[in-house]
Amino acid sequence: TELDKIRNFSIVAHIDHGKSTLADRLIQETGTVKDRDMKEQLLDAMDIERERGITIKANTVRIDYRADDGKDYVLNLIDTPGHVDFAYEVSRSMRAVEGSLLVVDSTQGVEAQTLANVYQAIEADHEIVPVLNKIDLPATDCDRVAEQIEDVIGIDASEAIKVSAKTGVGIRETLEAIVTKLPPPKGERDAPLKAMLVDSWYDAYLGVIVLVRVIDGVLKKGERIKMLSTKAAYPVERIGVFRPQMEMIDELGPGEIGFLTASIKQVRDTRVGDTITHEKKGTENALPGFKPSQPVVFCGLFPVDNAEFEDLRDAIEKLALNDASFSYEMETSAALGFGFRCGFLGLLHLEVIRDRIEREYNIELITTAPSVIYHIHMRDGQMIELHNPADMPDLTTVDHLEEPRIKATILVPDDYLGDVLKLCQDRRGIQQDLTYAGSRAMVVYDLPLNEVVFDFYDRLKSVTKGYASFDYQMIGYREDRLVKMSILVNEEPVDALSTMVHFDRAEQRGRAMVEKLKDLIPRHMFKIPIQAAIGGRVIARETLSAMRKDVTAKCYGGDATRKRKLLDKQKAGKKKMRQFGKVDIPQEAFISALKMD
Ligand code: GDP
Ligand code: MG
Repeated sequence: TELDKIRNFSIVAHIDHGKSTLADRLIQETGTVKDRDMKEQLLDAMDIERERGITIKANTVRIDYRADDGKDYVLNLIDTPGHVDFAYEVSRSMRAVEGSLLVVDSTQGVEAQTLANVYQAIEADHEIVPVLNKIDLPATDCDRVAEQIEDVIGIDASEAIKVSAKTGVGIRETLEAIVTKLPPPKGERDAPLKAMLVDSWYDAYLGVIVLVRVIDGVLKKGERIKMLSTKAAYPVERIGVFRPQMEMIDELGPGEIGFLTASIKQVRDTRVGDTITHEKKGTENALPGFKPSQPVVFCGLFPVDNAEFEDLRDAIEKLALNDASFSYEMETSAALGFGFRCGFLGLLHLEVIRDRIEREYNIELITTAPSVIYHIHMRDGQMIELHNPADMPDLTTVDHLEEPRIKATILVPDDYLGDVLKLCQDRRGIQQDLTYAGSRAMVVYDLPLNEVVFDFYDRLKSVTKGYASFDYQMIGYREDRLVKMSILVNEEPVDALSTMVHFDRAEQRGRAMVEKLKDLIPRHMFKIPIQAAIGGRVIARETLSAMRKDVTAKCYGGDATRKRKLLDKQKAGKKKMRQFGKVDIPQEAFISALKMD
């Protein structure tokens, strides 16, 4: 396809503003998918994505469109993940296209993720077409929302397209705007091949599939290509595009987006953002800014049933093949037996992997407290990376500890600013900047990553009713007074509940944890002390009194089926517990105990 007949774009929106519905409608209006094959949310493939309403892996679709000028265009839509854990993936896929549709719900207005995502688009030099969606609803107010887009984001919204992705109004106008307002890609057919690796995943039939955007040159079937970062070379087996189902073609030219397969064994061998070129006479110039994403949060995953360890290994190995940013190594815990220490990009990433193991592989898991990587500087001058608080060396050998810090940028309406500042302050944040854009404040904080990984994002959303957007970058390691806090249940340390905390917060955190555990652990026939300790010193203590919780007590005699149901439920609840000495600790305790509110 000639460059001037190609338009590459993404859709940016706050969650629920209609990104998926609009994508469906564009696909349908252009006849890309026959009406009878149309099902909702075509691009959100995975079950978990559907349920959680998030798009995890970027997806893409090629649409043929005959415009009002009578010419045929190829439109490539790349769908991007919307969550901060995947910020790096978002920024890469934004760089694979030239423009964005900015979808804003015309009954709601600009919201948190609208900003975070549109800034990514602006950063990638996109031309941006504002789309006001849901105009079929009575509460629609296009003038107000257009004004808000201009005030808050600072882009012209006078020609914003008024759309109902539900009824189909404005879809044709949107397609025309993509052709007339977004720029065609630039590139040179005769230059050495330079293509961006936008995404990759494992397909049961075809093996590793690599989504590419060709910048310069032509990529053909049968040629030998190499990845610039790893120098690994492969023969290209197939080339194709998504419509959205796969369609094989012979080549991809400059400006085009499609996929290749090349008997690459595992997704780990491909790096998002990497440059692909020909093995011979290829380009030497890598695309700028490539950095593979590194796991920043670690936790242990253990099977509830020890007999399932081999199944868990199998599941983890399979998932890792498909996800280069997920790392793992075997771990043994005195209390939990055999399991794996796993590394993730963030907490959502952790939850997604955990859910997939439980759901797709049917293995019940115990997830231990998430931890970041600490740098331990030893007396003898060595530096050790600590991925697991349980591995903390003897304190007499340690000189000092460093923890990772982040620069967090938060956008929030004025009204909630006080709550946000308090939250950041509570999490040992140091304020760096505070500015205003319209009625929105932008604050920048230097925060310990440790204080952010569990539930910072959830807390931020709840104190701001969902109106804050949050983004962060790692800024490096800094020394602080960090200590390992152990939890003892019935006098026995539960290594899976050990955490690193700041010395000044230890007592407060310890108290909060033992109080929570007291609620989370069911009563037993005997009294159970629950303690938090630093070294040998107990800093907080609660006692769970003896008594068996009789779940059937409230069913006064009578209804036998109800009684049985309750007992069954209690049994099922039991299965999800693990024994520590004589005490059963429910699975959810391991993460819940750490949430701070
Ligand atoms: P996404 O999270 O941005 O992908 O949003 P979805 O496309 O999943 O849409 C969120 C909800 O809004 C769904 O229930 C859609 O059916 C609904 N929706 C999307 N577009 C429209 C519209 O134009 N009008 C109305 N009334 N509802 C819409
Ligand atoms: Mg969606």
